[in-house]
Amino acid sequence: MDLANKVRLIKDFPKPGINFRDITTLLQEGEAFQQAVNDILELCRDLEVDLIACPESRGFVLGAPLAYAMGKGLVLLRKPGKLPGKIVRHEYNLEYGTDALEMHEGAILPGQRVLLVDDVLATGGTVSAAVELIKKSGGQVTGLVFLIELVGLDARQKLSEYPIVTLMQLE
Ligand code: AMP
Repeated sequence: MDLANKVRLIKDFPKPGINFRDITTLLQEGEAFQQAVNDILELCRDLEVDLIACPESRGFVLGAPLAYAMGKGLVLLRKPGKLPGKIVRHEYNLEYGTDALEMHEGAILPGQRVLLVDDVLATGGTVSAAVELIKKSGGQVTGLVFLIELVGLDARQKLSEYPIVTLMQLE
C-alpha cells in the first residue's frame, strides 16, 4: 500500500503558503495505520533504544504504538502548562509561529538511549527542542523517527549528527 496516498494535502492551512500534510486520513484507515507503525518498526530495528519520547500531540499518536510494540517506556513532551510535576522546558520556532515543549524532570535518566518520534519533520525546530530537553536530562538521542519528511526545508542538515528515519518524503 502506498501510504503517501493516504496523507491529505490541505493548502494554506493554518495560514497562507503552508502546505499542511494531514495524517488523520491515514490514521482513520486501520490497515494504513498498522502498516505505517510496522514499517517504522522495521526501519528502527537496528537502533538501540531504552525509551521513546514524542512531542504533543501528533507525536503521541505514533510514539504510543511504537513504544508498545517495542516494549519500551513512553515519555510525553508536552505543550506548556500541561504537566503537573516539576518540568524542564525549551522554546522553539515552528514552520508557522513559536512554541515550547516541557517534560517532567527525571522522566529520562542520565545515559538512557532515547528514540524521538513525531509525525512530520518540517523545519526541525520541534525535534531540536525535544533533543535539547533530552540532553538536559542526560539522555542520549539514538534516533529521530518521522512518518513524513518535508524535503526542501533542509532540516536534515541541522540534525545530521543523528540517525533519521522517515517513512515518506514529500515536497
Ligand atoms: P518543525 O518544528 O518545523 O519541524 O515542525 C514539525 C511540527 O509541526 C510537527 O509536530 C508537525 O506536526 C507540525 N507541522 C509543521 N509543518 C507541517 C506541515 N506542513 N504539515 C503538517 N504538520 C506540520
